[in-house]
Amino acid sequence: MDAGKDPFDVDLVFRLLRETVARLPKAAMFELRDRGHGSPFEQLVAALISARTRDEVSLPVSERLFAVANTPAAMAGLEEARLVGLLNGATFPEPKARDILALSRRIAEAGSVPDTLEGLMALRGVGPKIAALTLGIGFGRPAISVDIHVHRIVNRWGYVAAPTPERTMQALEAVLPERYWIEINERLVPFGKAICTGERPRCEGCLLIRQCRQVGVLPTRPAAGGPGAAPSPRRRSPRPPAMR
Ligand code: SF4
Repeated sequence: MDAGKDPFDVDLVFRLLRETVARLPKAAMFELRDRGHGSPFEQLVAALISARTRDEVSLPVSERLFAVANTPAAMAGLEEARLVGLLNGATFPEPKARDILALSRRIAEAGSVPDTLEGLMALRGVGPKIAALTLGIGFGRPAISVDIHVHRIVNRWGYVAAPTPERTMQALEAVLPERYWIEINERLVPFGKAICTGERPRCEGCLLIRQCRQVGVLPTRPAAGGPGAAPSPRRRSPRPPAMR
């Protein structure tokens, strides 16, 4: 075993994660659910809006849109230009508006939101992360949504060793107990934004330090010309891969 480290105990890790993120803002999709926008269709549309958009933006944009239309039929009835206007602030409003209109028409015709990963990913603009969020939060079905935070953190823990979010999702499906499949995204998004950040993870004081192998995290470097040290460890790996 690594010196100074304990065996990885996933139940303990999730208890510590809950404690750590209790006072942090929730991940946008879970916050929307708690504000009454937890239907599969709303989760699907909000997840699409949130792609490459900060939570602080996607949350109010989603709520503004749902105040106007929150069903497939109502959404499909919007003019594209109006929908683009309602998406103002999110990234790529024009292509997202086209995707939302296309999937809304298809769902309205079918009568329901697909309830499988494959069915969801057959919809225009929907990738594995969006499909897993919809399945997990909207339908309450076990599904692991791996975004950049989940991918980065579970690899730093040494819990998996995978080069891409897609491979990380497959690796997690093999080792992570199913009871944590939805929760892992809920906990690691705020944890990754505030504690285990991409550039300078705040390992000092991190409650997970004895469980985490800190894979790829360089030790603190003394400040040039003085006895002091940089405030936190540095990240070794390059920027995480883009994903939708
Ligand atoms: S010890 Fe450091 S690398 Fe590990 S989870 Fe905590 S902040 Fe992240």
